[in-house]
Amino acid sequence: MITKTATESWQEFVQCVEDCCSATEFQNWIAPIQVHASTSDEMLVLEVPNIFVQEYLLTNFKKHLDNFLPLSPSGELKVEFVIAQPKKKQAPKKASPAPTPLTPSDEKSTLLLNPQYTFEDFIEGPSNQFVKSAALGIAMRPGKSYNPLFIHGGVGLGKTHLLHAIGHMAKKERKRLKVHCITTEAFINDLVDSLRNKSSDKMKRFYRGLDLLLVDDIQFLQSRLNFEEEFCNMFEALINQNKQVVITSDKPPGELKLSERMIARMEWGLVANVGIPELETRVAILQHKAEKKGLQIPQRVAFFMAERIFNNVRQLEGALNRLAAYSRMMGIDVTEEVVENTLSELFHKGSTKRISVDNILKSVAVMFGVRVADICGTSRAKSVAFPRQVAMYLAKEMVNDSLIKLAASFGGKTHSTLLHAWKKISQQIGKDETLRRQIQMARRNLES
Ligand code: ADP
Ligand code: MG
Repeated sequence: MITKTATESWQEFVQCVEDCCSATEFQNWIAPIQVHASTSDEMLVLEVPNIFVQEYLLTNFKKHLDNFLPLSPSGELKVEFVIAQPKKKQAPKKASPAPTPLTPSDEKSTLLLNPQYTFEDFIEGPSNQFVKSAALGIAMRPGKSYNPLFIHGGVGLGKTHLLHAIGHMAKKERKRLKVHCITTEAFINDLVDSLRNKSSDKMKRFYRGLDLLLVDDIQFLQSRLNFEEEFCNMFEALINQNKQVVITSDKPPGELKLSERMIARMEWGLVANVGIPELETRVAILQHKAEKKGLQIPQRVAFFMAERIFNNVRQLEGALNRLAAYSRMMGIDVTEEVVENTLSELFHKGSTKRISVDNILKSVAVMFGVRVADICGTSRAKSVAFPRQVAMYLAKEMVNDSLIKLAASFGGKTHSTLLHAWKKISQQIGKDETLRRQIQMARRNLES
């Protein structure tokens, strides 16, 4: 009778959990757990497909378990676990209603690289020079320099592009290299499938046998903490064998909500930022993409567009696609007027506010705790010279005026001083996380 009660209370627990967690979570973690035949009066014995499921249950549902299941007088859960025996060798793929698991070793799933995302098609500028050369270095000599390479940056700035470019180049250099490129989501799905199909050893072997692992969008591991440890183990195993790992993320490691261990591992190698490309780079990207589409865009028009779409390369590309479709359909050349007509709503979203050098000077002065007069003065003390360079960088980026005029607004500096400052800060942003954030914040304040 008590046995039945234990089983019943388990069933009640299952019902309650089914109501309060997502269908996927339930299917992956709870549904596979069975009450084992050896459940006795004393003890509920649960059969789990593997240790992960057991740990998942105990870490995530402890409160519910305590509420539903029998406890010993000392408050311990009266539950034991047994790991399910592997069923007889699986008959060659049939009978199971579950979808065929994705075996990472399938050649087709091994290299899903976008053929467009190559180094040749990646346009370089001060904001991405550093990360591009790091990526190239890795592609030429995987496992021999920085490991892992951690690439971070905002949406649509070319992280996936660079990741795939590394894959292409590495594979071209050494055909036999075992390369695997995967999004974090797909990795988690593989892991879930392999656990469900009891093929996690196979998966482990596959990953540990790679020479180069490219992982896109690690930020998605944040909401899937239960997979973090598994990922981290695999990651360490690869790095310990000098196998190359490259990771992309929308944030630097320290800002991800992941365990300290995981963050520390990701910071082991080189952390590099892909920044927002400067105006000239945006123009070059536009022209490169247009050329590939067989579309002619006059230089003036490219500047016109790139001045108005400045946060995101993907958006720039979207605008170009729209423009290409329109000009083909109408059989007309691309002029500023055509651009204004086709893309007006894109332009007017973010770029309405006119920013002046004055605004920038005030904002930077506050940010660094110096006076506007100092920034415009001649002191070379670092505490003043650096804010001055930042302000000059922002002026060139955000104010649509000639370099000579911009430089003159800094107490009559020359345009080459301004250009020098801009170059220096552009390059430093790629390497210096604090500076990157400061500049991002300044931009946002000025735009809002
Ligand atoms: P992310 O992964 O950072 O969100 P993607 O790598 O998907 O961004 O890039 C978005 C689009 O912008 C892609 O089509 C990519 O080719 C293009 N892109 C971004 N940066 C560059 C660049 N420097 N040169 C050429 N194309 C770029
Ligand atoms: Mg991406």
